[in-house]
Amino acid sequence: MMMLTKKMIEIRSLLQTVGQSDTLTLPSIVVIGSQSSGKSSVLEAIVGHEFLPKGSNMVTRRPIELTLVNTPEAHAEYGEFPALGLGKITDFSQIQRTLTDLNLAVPAAECVTDDPIQLRIYSPNVPDLSLIDLPGYIQVTGRDQPAELKEKIAELCERYIKPPNVILAISAADVDLANSTALRASRKVDPRGERTIGVITKMDLVDPERGASLLNDKKYALRLGYVGVVCRVPQAIGTGKLFNRGNGNIANAIAKNENAYFSSHPVEFGPESETDVGTKNLRKKLMHVLEQTMAASLKTTSEAIQRELAEATYEFKVQYNDRPLSAESYLAESLDAFKHSFKGFTEHFGRAEVRELLKHELDQQVLNLLAQRYWNRPFEDLSQPLHEPNPLSELPKADPENTIWQVKLDSSSASLTKLGIGRLATSVVASALQAHIDRLISTSRFAAHPFARQTITEASTSILRDLSYDISDELEICIKPYKYRIEVDDNEWAKGRENVANVLKEELKVCEAAAKNLETQVGGRKKIKDVMGFIDRVRSGQVVLEGNGQGGAGGFSSALLHKGREAVFLRDRVDVLKMRLLAVKSKQCANRKNKYHCPEIFLDAVADKLTTTADLFLDAELLSKFYYVFPRELDARLGRGLSQTEVERFAREDPKIRRHLDVVRRKDLLEHVLKEMEALRQLEAREKRYSSRS
Ligand code: GDP
Repeated sequence: MMMLTKKMIEIRSLLQTVGQSDTLTLPSIVVIGSQSSGKSSVLEAIVGHEFLPKGSNMVTRRPIELTLVNTPEAHAEYGEFPALGLGKITDFSQIQRTLTDLNLAVPAAECVTDDPIQLRIYSPNVPDLSLIDLPGYIQVTGRDQPAELKEKIAELCERYIKPPNVILAISAADVDLANSTALRASRKVDPRGERTIGVITKMDLVDPERGASLLNDKKYALRLGYVGVVCRVPQAIGTGKLFNRGNGNIANAIAKNENAYFSSHPVEFGPESETDVGTKNLRKKLMHVLEQTMAASLKTTSEAIQRELAEATYEFKVQYNDRPLSAESYLAESLDAFKHSFKGFTEHFGRAEVRELLKHELDQQVLNLLAQRYWNRPFEDLSQPLHEPNPLSELPKADPENTIWQVKLDSSSASLTKLGIGRLATSVVASALQAHIDRLISTSRFAAHPFARQTITEASTSILRDLSYDISDELEICIKPYKYRIEVDDNEWAKGRENVANVLKEELKVCEAAAKNLETQVGGRKKIKDVMGFIDRVRSGQVVLEGNGQGGAGGFSSALLHKGREAVFLRDRVDVLKMRLLAVKSKQCANRKNKYHCPEIFLDAVADKLTTTADLFLDAELLSKFYYVFPRELDARLGRGLSQTEVERFAREDPKIRRHLDVVRRKDLLEHVLKEMEALRQLEAREKRYSSRS
């Protein structure tokens, strides 16, 4: 018959994973007793280990759903907290600490809660049993405990001792049974004593005659009877230490002690009444009663499961159109969709796009060089205090006869080639790729999954970082020849002339727009003109400022002055740009022989050459490699690389998916449990036939 209980307990655990529900469960044995009645000692004697929290300050604050699993083939004894994922715990004092921590985690104000702790113990020495240990009843509320604690514990116990659960009511022999809180509570819900087992502990503390009479109590007669036990762990003589502390099994020591007591009083506890006493008999009784009770509940539980299943099936059909879903399939689909969109991106981001990016970057560098080395009329310098006179001077004129101008062009072009194009170009393209990946993520399903987002971003950054490291050095080597000598032919000159004219025009537009913007900010053309006029007068020394003008000057606030100086800067820049545009378009600049007149055209042609080398190289080295490695890295990190729990966690991040998964899971689980129940009923029928034959 033992197989049956094991199976039923398995089903009970399965049902627990479906969710807490009163009807959707199989009965268990609920252990109640007042504090110090010896409740923990009884449970520990059954398990054979000390594992329950000890201490004066009421340590059981949550019910403990204790599942004992007999493992006849195994040697090892261990416990598991399925909800915590701590794995197998072979050290029972570790289990004890964990239980204490879990109990102490309940806020003091709450004191008790009905959220159960699940603990499974596997051992060749335990019977298959399902027990629920509840907080002990208290008589008087301690000073640091809330006044309603007594009622709270009583209510919690009452909730658990409902039928069809079996009640294990613990009372100590040295306390009058009429005063036993456990028996009183039990009598309230089981007045005819049909599903209560009475346990009388501390039999050694009363004289044997009285002890024996307790077991035959007639005031509250129990169909399942009373069992007397002596469960105290014997002390090691002399040392004062508890016997066999540590990880050894204490069951034998208790049994020996218990046997010694009962057999030394054969008259009272003679062999004929041996089923009434001893932990061993208690275990047997518990197994038998639990099996009977569970078997009797199979039908109603199975009906309840069928009802739940019908509901889940209906929901699945109506809400989700019977669409199957698992965390794995969801992840696989999402990953495929993402890789597909990435593929689409790679088809539109190639050498031409890289070229455009790089050219734009180098155009900016050319503009900067020109501003620094050529057309650098001392502009309004916003970093200097306003009171420094900064007289307007003429823009330097191109003077190609002067060797200074020749040196200038050579050094400018060298600055460009020695800029560190390798690193610059690689990082520009790598950040563009990263930005595109970010955009792809935010328009994908992964957008709602912080974990996946991070994983994908990390994958692309790490690949790009690794590739960039080598590529920037290699690219630098490719452009090395340009560092020594650059020839520009007619074609290249013409192209450069056209391009740089566009760049200057663009820059002009940007400056004009910024100036316009400033004008609106300060509140109109007249106002900005006034401030600019004032600043010009300061710069030319017509007006001398007291102090540095920080608190405002000339009737203008300091903020307004600041804006005015920005406007002056922009105006000067616009002047320069216009002048250079004219120069570039001039006849003189049409001929590459006049390169010293038109440095911008020459520099543009240089930038163009650099770009051509870089885009070719980056297309081959960075893009193709990234396009090849990235999808594979995604597979590794999000596909194969994830554990079942991680996949599950990922899918459940999206609330819509979580609900869908829950329904599917519930349905599958219920179907599975129902199948198991069916097998169980067949097993039960078989065993019945077998036992009636024998
Ligand atoms: P709980 O508060 O109901 O869990 O009670 P415990 O199991 O912690 O026991 C309370 C006290 O009674 C402890 O000091 C135990 O050692 C002691 N005790 C438990 N069972 C027996 C027993 O059968 N005989 C004797 N003499 N003492 C016992």
